[in-house]
Amino acid sequence: MKRQSDERSFKDPVCGMEVSHKTAVDQFLYQGKTYYFCAGSCREAFEAEPEKYLRHHRQHGMKPG
Ligand SMILES: [Zn+2]
Repeated sequence: MKRQSDERSFKDPVCGMEVSHKTAVDQFLYQGKTYYFCAGSCREAFEAEPEKYLRHHRQHGMKPG
């Protein structure tokens, strides 16, 4: 028996929805990492401002404003 481990889910960084290889409508490669999106419009939003949606990678000592 084989287990299909290929159906991991990913989080759409734009809207927060969970998508998988099968349900993802669009994908985008950014800094060597592939991001999956529930819709083309989410991918476009990410493509326009990737940093806006990847805030969790905060740099030390950097405060906005
Ligand atoms: Zn989305």
